[in-house]
Amino acid sequence: MSTPFWGPDFDELADTDPEIAGVVLDELARLRGGLQLIASENLTSPAVLAALGSTLSNKYAEGYPGRRYYGGCQVVDRAEELGIARAKELFGAEHANLQPHSGASANFAVYAALLTPGDTVLAMSLPHGGHLTHGSRVSFSGKWFNVVAYGVREDTELIDYDQVRELARQHRPKMIICGATAYPRLIDFAAFRSIADEVGSWLVVDAAHFIGLVAGGAIPSPVPYADVVSFTTHKVLRGPRGGMILCREELAARIDKAVFPFSQGGPLMHAVAAKAVALREAATPAYARYARQVVANAQVLAEGLAAEGIRPVGGGTDTHLALLDLRELGVSGRDAEARCDAAGITLNKNAIPFDPQPPAISSGIRVGTPAVTTQGMGEGEMKEIATLIGRAVRDPAAGPEIATAVSSLVARHPAYPR
Ligand SMILES: *Cc1c(COP(=O)(O)O)cnc(C)c1O
Repeated sequence: MSTPFWGPDFDELADTDPEIAGVVLDELARLRGGLQLIASENLTSPAVLAALGSTLSNKYAEGYPGRRYYGGCQVVDRAEELGIARAKELFGAEHANLQPHSGASANFAVYAALLTPGDTVLAMSLPHGGHLTHGSRVSFSGKWFNVVAYGVREDTELIDYDQVRELARQHRPKMIICGATAYPRLIDFAAFRSIADEVGSWLVVDAAHFIGLVAGGAIPSPVPYADVVSFTTHKVLRGPRGGMILCREELAARIDKAVFPFSQGGPLMHAVAAKAVALREAATPAYARYARQVVANAQVLAEGLAAEGIRPVGGGTDTHLALLDLRELGVSGRDAEARCDAAGITLNKNAIPFDPQPPAISSGIRVGTPAVTTQGMGEGEMKEIATLIGRAVRDPAAGPEIATAVSSLVARHPAYPR
C-alpha cells in the first residue's frame, strides 16, 4: 500500500469513506489552486501531519508526564517531555504546557489560573484588533469577567499606551492582556510590564498570531516581560492546530491545574507530539530564515497595496500581516473579500479601527504572508500579488482573468509539492 505524503494510509480512507476522502483531496486541491492570504493560516509540514495522523490519537493520558491517571503512558510521555523541553529551550521559558486544545482553550485556562469570575481585566478592544477571548460579550471572557478595553489612537492607529496606563490606574485590573488578531505593528511589552507593575496586575501576552516570528528571532520576545504567554501553534509557528502556554515557574502548578483537570480532559497526544515536531522545526536556521522572509514579504505586500490605493493601517507592518483600509477605493471589506475569492485569492474582510461600517461589511481587509512564504514565494511574488489584489478589488469583472494569473503564480510555487 502506498503512503502518500499528506497522511498515512490515504488509500484506507479512500476505501472506507470515499466521501470524506473526497473532501480531503478537494481541500488539498483548493490549497494548491489559489493564494492563501489568511493571516492566521499556514501550511504545516508533512512531518507534523504524520504525527497528527498517528496512533497517539488513541491514548488516554489525563495528567502530565510521570503523573498520569491511566497506565500505558510511558511512550506518549516521551512525546510530551520532548515537546516541553523544546518549548522551554526555544522560547527561554521556565515552564511550558502543551495540552491546550486551541488558543481559546489556552486563554480559558489562563483566566482560570489567575482570576476569579467578576475580576477586572484590561484587554484590547475587539474592533481595534483584539480577540473574542479578550472580553467579547459572546465569550466567557466578557460574560464572566469585568473587561475594560483599551484601543489604538485615531491619528497613529498604534496602541495608545497613555490610555492603557490611565485605564489601569483607574480600574486596577487583576490582569492585563495584550496581543491581537489584526494589529500589524510590534507591541511594546516593556511598556505593558511597567504598567502592570505600577498597578500590581498580572501581565499576559496572547502571542497567538506572532509567536512563530518570535521563535524564528524575527521580532522581540514577550517571554522576558510576561507572567504568562499563551498562543496557538498553527499560525506563523506552522504546527498542528492547537494551543500552548508558557509561564514563570511560580505559576506552573496553577497553569497546569487550570488546563487539566479544570478545563480539559485527556490531552490530544497526537497533537502534543505534532507540536513537539513543529518546535523542532522552528528551532532550525531554515525556520529563522522563513520567519524573516514572512516579515519582509508582508512589508513588500503592504507597500504594493498602498501603491494600489489601499492604505495600510498603522502605516505598514513589522509582522506577518497587514490591515488595509479600502475606503479610498469605495469598496467594502465584504465586497473585496468576495471579489478576491472569485479571483482565487483567499483573504478576509476585517474591521479597521474606528470603522464606520458594521463588522459584517467592514471597511478593511487583512492579509498575511505565512502560507505563501512557506510555498517559497519572495518579494517579487508579493509585488505581483499586490497588483492582482488591487485589480480584483477595483474590477469585479476581472475575476476569471486574475484567477489565470494566480494559477500560474501558484504553479511556480506549489503548496505541498508532489
Ligand atoms: C487565533 C487567536 C486565538 C484563538 O485561537 P483558536 O485556536 O482559534 O481558539 C486567541 N487569541 C488570539 C490573539 C488569536 O489570534
